[in-house]
Amino acid sequence: MKINSGADYQASLQKIIPVIYYKGQRITDVVTHPATAPHVRAAAMTYSLANREDSKALATATSHLTGRTISRFTHVHQNVEDLLKKVKLLRLLGQKTGTCFQRCVGFDGINAVYSVAYEVDAKLGTDYLERFKKWLIRIQDENLMVVGAMTDPKGDRSKGPVDQVDPDQFVHIVERRDDGIVIRGAKLHMTGAVNSHEILIMPTMAMDEKSKDYAFVCAIPVDAPGITMIFGRQAGDDRRDNLERIDVGKPTFGAVGGEAVIVFDDVFVPYERVFLDGETAFTGDIVYRFAAHHRANYGACKTGLMDVLTGAVSYLCQIQGTSKGSHVRDKITEMIHLSETLYSSSLACSIEGAPTASGAYLVNTMLANVCKQNVTRFHFEVARLAVDLAGGFIATLPSEHDLRSEDIGHLVSKYFSGVDGIPVEDRIKIGRLIEAMTGGTALVESMHGAGSPQAQRIMIFREGDLANKIALAKTLAGVPAHVAKDGK
Ligand code: SF4
Repeated sequence: MKINSGADYQASLQKIIPVIYYKGQRITDVVTHPATAPHVRAAAMTYSLANREDSKALATATSHLTGRTISRFTHVHQNVEDLLKKVKLLRLLGQKTGTCFQRCVGFDGINAVYSVAYEVDAKLGTDYLERFKKWLIRIQDENLMVVGAMTDPKGDRSKGPVDQVDPDQFVHIVERRDDGIVIRGAKLHMTGAVNSHEILIMPTMAMDEKSKDYAFVCAIPVDAPGITMIFGRQAGDDRRDNLERIDVGKPTFGAVGGEAVIVFDDVFVPYERVFLDGETAFTGDIVYRFAAHHRANYGACKTGLMDVLTGAVSYLCQIQGTSKGSHVRDKITEMIHLSETLYSSSLACSIEGAPTASGAYLVNTMLANVCKQNVTRFHFEVARLAVDLAGGFIATLPSEHDLRSEDIGHLVSKYFSGVDGIPVEDRIKIGRLIEAMTGGTALVESMHGAGSPQAQRIMIFREGDLANKIALAKTLAGVPAHVAKDGK
């Protein structure tokens, strides 16, 4: 059955019952539970936009495998235009939801695994790509949401997978049977896990020869036996869970993506769902390509969020009577400038994308790393400017309960009013929106999502082609090549 709309998507989630815990209790319906419902609605937007005339061209694609119309979130990029459409779609979704809509992680995993499986098969004569295509066609035809699962707990970071005291700190194969593998371990920070249909498990880093049991890719349904998810806490989640709609700031879609721990306790995976098995030489490529695609996204989805934040602050200044100040205009100009700079970065790494051997397109990896590195700074600076302009009241506002109180509600209304004629509730709502988008979990996601800043710096240095830059300098300075101590 194909999922054709946001409502279909929500109904599809109610037909499966993965094991999910939150605050020590089971969640049996992620669509209606207050902790998960906002995140479900954000992901549902990825389905809804495919039905709207003004966004259909971005949100859908033609499958190169079947020729059928599919969600872009299940597509393998076939050209630069596909990469660009993804960037535009992500910014639009960021604008519509003001949060993480989660579905890109699986999307990027699909693209990474596809191109690497092709290259493994070409070199080793294996049939990983054929297995992967069969799985992917089902994902495309049924329009399923896939969570890309990469980050392992890693235990003692000074040691690799096989040297850990507890081998389960990295997801690994504990048994090989005639018909499949059995896996154990966990993945952390899994965005959208509790409201996905399938998990695409990938290695967390490049593996050495000793780590064959850790070097695999496979897919399993979220409700497969042996899987337990633990949904994470977020800043302000008590307001969300208690349905304090004004105080939560963004009641429909939640503050950020909704992350979970996924535990695999001896989960059986049949071979038709195993897309890499023991090929340690290729695990680095999976991680590298997945990371590049996902880092390219951040200049798009986060720009959408910054658009919302810039609008919120601009409106707040209007209803507080401060919008005419030249310093206000200057700070808002800076917010726009930083947002558009990030967007340019996402567009640039897409335009400079190129085909892999499989024909699937990969973004320019240097520019993708630069893009994400800039997000770790610019989003924080945009948030800083927003807080600067909003004023301290976003941190000291009385609660919605006080606003509604028969005894003191009139006092809250009186002393939190702004420009005459604007309902005080509007000012409070916008203030809460700014609070939700500039604090706690929202910004941590911009720092560490798609890899921590140092991960990008390692790639930027590695790909910086320093030898060439030195050669350029030597040539212009008239320094002979043999003079350098390094011999270059
Ligand atoms: Fe998609 Fe952005 Fe969320 Fe990553 S952080 S899943 S790119 S919306």
